[in-house]
Amino acid sequence: MNAKKATAAEVEKSALIIDTHADTPQRFVDEGFNLGDPLNGGNLNLDSIHKGNLGAEFFSIWVEPKLYKGQDARRTLELIDSVKQQVAKYPDKLMFVTTPDGIEYAHRTRKFAVLMGIEGGHSIENSLPLLRQYYALGVRYMTLTWSNSNGWADSSGDIDDSSVPHTKEGLTEFGKDVVYEMNRLGMMVDISHVSDRTFYRTLVITRAPVIASHSGARALCNAPRNMTDEMLRAVANSGGPNSKGGVVQVNFFSGFVSQAYWDALKAQASERQKAVDEAKAKAAAEGKPFTYADEDKIHRSFMDKIPRPPLSMLIDHIDHIAKVAGVDHVGLGSDFDGVSGQLPEGLDSPADLPKITQALLDRGYSAEDCRKILGGNLLRVFREVEAVSKELQAQDRPKITEKQPFDKVQK
Ligand SMILES: [Zn+2]
Repeated sequence: MNAKKATAAEVEKSALIIDTHADTPQRFVDEGFNLGDPLNGGNLNLDSIHKGNLGAEFFSIWVEPKLYKGQDARRTLELIDSVKQQVAKYPDKLMFVTTPDGIEYAHRTRKFAVLMGIEGGHSIENSLPLLRQYYALGVRYMTLTWSNSNGWADSSGDIDDSSVPHTKEGLTEFGKDVVYEMNRLGMMVDISHVSDRTFYRTLVITRAPVIASHSGARALCNAPRNMTDEMLRAVANSGGPNSKGGVVQVNFFSGFVSQAYWDALKAQASERQKAVDEAKAKAAAEGKPFTYADEDKIHRSFMDKIPRPPLSMLIDHIDHIAKVAGVDHVGLGSDFDGVSGQLPEGLDSPADLPKITQALLDRGYSAEDCRKILGGNLLRVFREVEAVSKELQAQDRPKITEKQPFDKVQK
């Protein structure tokens, strides 16, 4: 018997906490928000990072597909730049890193590790050269789709919409090239948001283990963004024959945590969308821009009416995934600043992360298991993705489709 159980504070001190999804870059670009500012309605800033001992964040490079139609790459680059500007602004507190070693080095030198992941394959504008350049700029994962199917991979967000073209098998030949090229570069393949068929197709062809950067368990909350038990096990078994498997990073969004919240959200969906459409039309008529922050404000006013689920429900997801897929295959993908403030009770910023550690200890998780969930598992997968990349780069490259499948017709 252990003489004494570890406390949450002791575990936090010895852990390297990694969160794989925060949408704060929208705030950097659209609101002029800086990480040193007070939260002011947001979820993540320097103070809350420090209080919760958060060690690393993957900032989401997410391009709203309708607002920035035809300007995907431009918006992508502006968001990437905004993350780098924050690092330049706080050089004594932040460190821009692109490797697992970099995350650990930043942590040892008491700096917050800043990383980036692209959310939505539409950012590459059907171009492998763009994908490679995003890697060169430091992007280390890409969610194959956001809520929009992009021609080469399908999204859970519009898979039932017959007006949207979808692939035959989940990935087109170009889509398979994208996954291969990500494996070869060492960019983690993120299957959050994709349709179930795209998910399985990706798992068949990926040479490296995959991540779900921000998804929950469908057995507990039946939202298409969450994953079935079979999918959770498939992520745990993803990668080559010697792989230690991928990781599912649990999303904190109330709508993916609680079935009751999800049902309430669906019930008000058409009314909420109507309010957004009206505000958009009004802005357009007045010649004013309509940003994600404007839309977010409207969503927030509706969603604030739905009661927050208890924190224990979020812990249920972590617990469920640990039981179904294994404790080596679950982690944290908060979606801070991307969910209109809709988070479980008592969880408002990284400052509240110790409550998750405490809850896991209370449920009998060991200090070692907690450290895996808080960041160890993600580090392991990231390292393996790097190793696979080195192997692939040493091999002759199989044929990558030279012609882009969506090349415009030459006149
Ligand atoms: Zn997302």
